[in-house]
Amino acid sequence: MSKDYSKLIELEKYHHTKLFPKKNFVITRGKGALLYDEKDNEYIDCIAGHAVLNIGHSHPKFIDAMKKQIEKLVMVPPGFPVEERAKVLKKLADITPKQLTQSFLSNSGTESVEAAIKLVLANNRDKKNPEIITFKRDFHGRTLGSLALTHNMRFRKPFMSWLSPHVKFAAFGDIDSVKELINENTSAIFCELIQGEAGIHPAPDDFPKALRELCDEKDLLLIDDEVQTGFGRTGKMFAYEHYGIIPDVVCMAKAIAGGVPMGATIASEDLYNKFNIGEHNITFGGNPLACAAANITIEILLEEKLIEKSANKGKKIISALDEFSKNNNMIRAVRGKGLMIGIEYKKKTLEMLKKAEEMGVLLLKTGLTVIRILPPLVISDKQVEKVLDVIQKISV
Ligand code: PLP
Repeated sequence: MSKDYSKLIELEKYHHTKLFPKKNFVITRGKGALLYDEKDNEYIDCIAGHAVLNIGHSHPKFIDAMKKQIEKLVMVPPGFPVEERAKVLKKLADITPKQLTQSFLSNSGTESVEAAIKLVLANNRDKKNPEIITFKRDFHGRTLGSLALTHNMRFRKPFMSWLSPHVKFAAFGDIDSVKELINENTSAIFCELIQGEAGIHPAPDDFPKALRELCDEKDLLLIDDEVQTGFGRTGKMFAYEHYGIIPDVVCMAKAIAGGVPMGATIASEDLYNKFNIGEHNITFGGNPLACAAANITIEILLEEKLIEKSANKGKKIISALDEFSKNNNMIRAVRGKGLMIGIEYKKKTLEMLKKAEEMGVLLLKTGLTVIRILPPLVISDKQVEKVLDVIQKISV
């Protein structure tokens, strides 16, 4: 490694918080599903910026759109209509069910969830202590509102004293356990239809419909967190399409804008009308740069049929892994939909990830025993073959 690069790593290690264990190489560029380090070593990127880069790295149309937008306009507040924002608001309404017409635009997944929490509160002003039900193993973010809806004690415990007590956790997939938690204050159910951070657990087939029916019966809002699952990751534009339900609110972020920070919370006009002017706002939300990034990202996803590719490649990977795991006693389970795939092992995975990295494949761990495969949806068949080969080699 050249002196400059080792200095750069030292600087990161010293000046960045200790929250992130750092790699000992520097990523210098990316192209499609590939990343390159300072020595030009090539890696197949099955992390994709934590399910962000669905259109891949450095897509030429994305680069072109970003260059043009930077030259034209980067920031104006939401009170000033701009072409890029109008377009993306329309696109989000077009790719979701017709009742969902209005979006609050923000900059991240956690902000899209925070907006949904406030939307629930604004719609339940008559209740003294509006309660939210969510699920064991669910992850909704790390700011204090979304963290209150996140189940894992590892994330919650240090901040417990500031987390809302008005959140209850039901068992994922068990409608009776949801029913047991409902009382006169219950206002909404938040769910991840495929639990991502917890190790890729898709909801059982009939569970989302049962949730929808329960919400209709009890007049509760059904809030679907599609931050990780959205924009083709699971082989559909959104995961609710797998289950044939329409949520009242959909939270989006991650892949929405091809790597430029953006979040969106879409709901009906009726729901958003319960907010009074000024009750929610965010400085950067809906800035023209992020909106232009989202517009081109959604166009690329549709034009290049990346959602269908995600479905087909995902099926191939999952069936290859299922086949392989029959004769492998280290693998406990293979789960997923589209290119959102988890392999649960009977042992810790850290060493396996290091080996994969040495063989040129970047994989993501979650918890101690699950490896996630979340490549850009543009990954080629040849790259898929290499990923499968490397997974076989490390699964010993
Ligand atoms: N919701 C889900 C389902 C997520 O997977 C994540 C992040 O992984 C978040 C919310 C939080 O998103 P962000 O990290 O952009 O705040």
